[in-house]
Amino acid sequence: MKTTTTLRPADLAEVRDAVRDTPGRLAVAGAGTAAGWAGDLDTVDAVLDLSALSGVITHNPGDMTVSAHAGTPLRALTDELAEHGQHVSLDAARIADGATLGGLVATGDSGPSSLVYGTMRDLVIGVTVVLADGTVARSGGHVIKNVAGYDLAKLLHGSHGTLGVLTEIVLRLHPVPQRAATLVVDAPLARAAELAARVLEGPYEPVALEWISHGSGQLLVRIEGTDEALPARVQRLQEVLDGGDEAADDPWLRHAELTRGSPEAAVLRIGARPSVLPALVADVAADAATVGLGTGVATVSLPPHAVAEAHGRVHAAGGTSQLRYRPPGADAPAWGPPPSALAVLRAVKTELDPDGRFGPGRFSPWM
Ligand SMILES: Cc1cc2nc3c(=O)[nH]c(=O)nc-3n(C[C@H](O)[C@H](O)[C@H](O)COP(=O)(O)OP(=O)(O)OC[C@H]3O[C@@H](n4cnc5c(N)ncnc54)[C@H](O)[C@@H]3O)c2cc1C
Repeated sequence: MKTTTTLRPADLAEVRDAVRDTPGRLAVAGAGTAAGWAGDLDTVDAVLDLSALSGVITHNPGDMTVSAHAGTPLRALTDELAEHGQHVSLDAARIADGATLGGLVATGDSGPSSLVYGTMRDLVIGVTVVLADGTVARSGGHVIKNVAGYDLAKLLHGSHGTLGVLTEIVLRLHPVPQRAATLVVDAPLARAAELAARVLEGPYEPVALEWISHGSGQLLVRIEGTDEALPARVQRLQEVLDGGDEAADDPWLRHAELTRGSPEAAVLRIGARPSVLPALVADVAADAATVGLGTGVATVSLPPHAVAEAHGRVHAAGGTSQLRYRPPGADAPAWGPPPSALAVLRAVKTELDPDGRFGPGRFSPWM
């Protein structure tokens, strides 16, 4: 029987040596919070477990940048940066479960506040990557305005461990806001979409604008600001929303729970133009959903047998879809119809990993 070796490199040189000296196919593992996302991994010869590759390398509070090893859980980094009043502005649901910086980049994950702060694609300003032949490649650095050379970080964003091993990541930081408020409006999805359009057209500057399938539906609108200015802004927002209460509990915990989904349902991430997303989510007959009415990103739970058809509908609407969870033993395809840029994806893979060593199966059946 074939056995899979687990290697736990603790620094960049050990990762490089592991890639260079281990023959065959390799999988990269972070904290395992998204190990089942995208296509099922084929059998590999070795797993590079990056949990020992953890910790801050350099924090520049004045420049608002930090570099850290790729196996660092973001929540640990958040704790470390908090004493300086800074944070990485990413609020993906699985951060609370211990997701690592490398895993968050490699899965292209994001949360509600990507409406304003963007995704990891926008927050990462530099990376160090070990390529399939053992080459150590560096791109970007601690400078935000930096266009020299290929932007490897953007290439690896959403690559699911198929192009290289991220070892060091440089991130831009934001100040932790003095105060935040979330207004909750009970509304079905179509009504929430109308209200969201009003908010987006006005000068309200929401940080997050999401609908969740809690009860008969809730619109969540978060704003951030100073102790002085926020109460008046909340009031103006209530006027445009025709109501809305400031949440007593934390409605974003409900949001995170619905984004993760329940163990018996398949979970699909959908990206589409915000103008078509609400109708699309209604169309795929989701049992549960969180819908970014400004970001165009929704996460829906549905029976595994409905996944293939949902992929088709999203593709027909010009969107993208990706399986994030498949109940054990269930048959649900990770990907839908191939994207128009498939030839480019294959060419990039061939250039960086010609022998198909990294993450085999993740983009199956496309490549
Ligand atoms: C003197 C000088 C100093 C600078 N210093 C810095 C600096 O220190 N830091 C910094 O971050 N920036 C700096 N810049 C700016 C930086 O050079 C530009 O932001 C960068 O080149 C992009 O410019 P652009 O978008 O106008 O693209 P262009 O300069 O027009 O094009 C850049 C390249 O991309 C190709 N290209 C453009 N658009 C596309 C497309 N849609 N599809 C495919 N290929 C395309 C072009 O053919 C060209 O090869 C400097 C610029 C100058 C002139």
